[in-house]
Amino acid sequence: MSSKYPHLFTPIDVHGVRIENRVIMGSIHTGLEGNPFSLQKLSAFYEERAKAGVGMIVTGGISPNRRGWLLPFSGKMSSYWDVRLHRQVTERIKAYPTKMLCQLLHAGRYAVHPFSLAPSAIQSPITKFAPTKMSLKQVRECVQDFIHAASCAHRAGYDGVEVMGSEGYLIHQFFSHRTNRRSDEYGHDLKGRIRFAKEIIEGIRQKLGHEFLIMFRLPMIDLLPDGNSFEEVLELAKELEVSGVSILNSGIGWHESRVPTIASMVPQAAFAWLTQKFKQYCKVPLVASNRINTPEIAEDILSQEMADFVSLARPFLADPQWTQKAKFDQGQNINVCIACNQACLDHIFQLKRASCLVNPQACYETEKILSKSLDPKKVLVVGAGPAGLACAYYAAKAGHQVELWEKSMHVGGQFTLASKIPGKEEFAKTIDFYRNQLFEMKVLIEYGKEFSDTEADQRGFDHIVFATGVKARIPEIQGISHPKVIFYDQLLSKKEMPKSSYAIVGAGGIGFDVAEFLSHQEYAEDPVEQYAHEWGIDRSLQHPGGLTQMKPEASRGYRNIYLLQRKKSKPGKNLSKTTGWIRRKTLEHRGVKMMSGIEYQKIDDHGLHILVDGHEKILEVDQVVICAGQVSVRPKTQRDQKSIHYIGGCKEARELDAKTAIEEAFDVATRI
Ligand code: NAP
Ligand code: SF4
Repeated sequence: MSSKYPHLFTPIDVHGVRIENRVIMGSIHTGLEGNPFSLQKLSAFYEERAKAGVGMIVTGGISPNRRGWLLPFSGKMSSYWDVRLHRQVTERIKAYPTKMLCQLLHAGRYAVHPFSLAPSAIQSPITKFAPTKMSLKQVRECVQDFIHAASCAHRAGYDGVEVMGSEGYLIHQFFSHRTNRRSDEYGHDLKGRIRFAKEIIEGIRQKLGHEFLIMFRLPMIDLLPDGNSFEEVLELAKELEVSGVSILNSGIGWHESRVPTIASMVPQAAFAWLTQKFKQYCKVPLVASNRINTPEIAEDILSQEMADFVSLARPFLADPQWTQKAKFDQGQNINVCIACNQACLDHIFQLKRASCLVNPQACYETEKILSKSLDPKKVLVVGAGPAGLACAYYAAKAGHQVELWEKSMHVGGQFTLASKIPGKEEFAKTIDFYRNQLFEMKVLIEYGKEFSDTEADQRGFDHIVFATGVKARIPEIQGISHPKVIFYDQLLSKKEMPKSSYAIVGAGGIGFDVAEFLSHQEYAEDPVEQYAHEWGIDRSLQHPGGLTQMKPEASRGYRNIYLLQRKKSKPGKNLSKTTGWIRRKTLEHRGVKMMSGIEYQKIDDHGLHILVDGHEKILEVDQVVICAGQVSVRPKTQRDQKSIHYIGGCKEARELDAKTAIEEAFDVATRI
């Protein structure tokens, strides 16, 4: 039993139901929900987490009817067949004390299909389809559909439901005057806007009795300029308590809000203060969510009585054993979610199955299996960046005898550089995880060691995995050797940044990282306060929607920075869907000048000479930072190609990313 996290592991009784601990695996869509042939995979995914002792699991969003589908043919809970299919999931979880809730989510105007319905015919700025206004009859039928869906979930073996009332989905659309312009009993005034949610909760409670758990995702803060006020949300919470809700979960923002709420630049537990505020007024247990990824942070929230539960979603993709490791005080062995979104939310937006950058087995539990080798081999991994570390880890787990050679004096490679970027500090936790695991598995790491065929042959390795990474590409610009020039890796490795003006050559992922690094300034001791200030979040909750007038000048950098690319397209166009807009907005707030369609002419004592639309211009900067992509680094070898493997950047530098590198590491470790 945990001595470090006593609050996290204190059981609680809710409506007569005992929940073993305060850890909730929050709802995350995996892409496995809708397909009957994927439910075995989904069951295995949940079972791994239940086996490790999580208190409660909430499924990905399941619609109460077809028109509420977020995507065509995503999950539904309304028929005998749906009940039968979901029994496959719940029956496997019943073997453990974990409680399981089915999330009921009607997408309303966020639906990505032409049959969407909404309280009023107001199209969302983030979807292609205009919704049809629901008739009064359709509204009443939809309330009944929710109640029927909860009843189906009950028959399917779920212990309860989570009713999705936030993030801008249908129930939230009814509650908000921005999207509800109805003049009938389901609109008009606050009482009318609350009615839809209230009737759903009342109906479920009446039908399914006292012990059926009903969690409601309360839209605590809209993060939209004309959103609901704190008083309006509190009124909703109180009405729901009277209607029979068991637990209130924290819902933060709408999908269309232009404030990041879960990406890596959001500080840990950035919204726990908000849950705490509601806790002062609510009687039912409350759940804190968003950017809670370690047991220390979770325990802190609970011990300060900011919430009664903590909800973590992505951290359970990163490490299925999160709860067990916390329970047995093994927090240092948790593979921490680094909030990159690259393999989870970015995949979902691309209509692909979710997984995890730091755990490629997530959502592939029945397919990506790492078995103990029956014929253990002697394996050398060369290079201790993320690819090499991951490969050494998986190969050692498979029972091979592994050595890791690194030519520098430390592990981490490009991830160590990335961890220098403000908001990406947690990337260092991935390196720590691998370092700890390799130490425990007694994998020998040799530092300051270059690869040579002779030594590898002498040591008798059966397989050699090259994970030697990349080096910065040197662009053909006149004056590239001028003292003003610095390459991104040199810049990020330095401690001090004395210069006041910079031109960044290359606006890819690393160019953006460097621009963020150079434009960042700390002006508040508390990271949550600084984040709230930068994004205009009103922590006094006096403004509707919890948003003050954004004050970009507050975060405007004190350095003069240009971010340049030759392409004519908008800089950052190829950054990820879920984080690209945040990164562009951050740089805009800080006054970074982004320029496209540039031709580089030369670098000299005056600065960087460029052509823009055929006109010559000199950017009079102190330093020119080169972020023009990378080229692979591959050591020479004469060995038989069958025993040689290349992974990560040394295999393919173009479009290299850590997700592919770690996937390749896993793949090679299972094939050796
Ligand atoms: P990149 O994304 O390929 O960008 C390279 C940049 O350099 C481009 O803007 C390119 O634009 C420019 N460039 C290429 N060749 C050049 C040349 N010869 N002279 C001048 N400019 C040149 O590469 P990266 O920024 O090094 O990033 C590498 C990978 O790391 C990315 O693919 C990404 O997956 C990953 N990464 C991701 C993140 C993230 O937050 N998700 C962050 C960092 C890195 P023009 O050709 O238009 O000038
Ligand atoms: Fe977390 Fe990134 Fe994994 Fe998503 S892909 S779960 S954000 S580490």
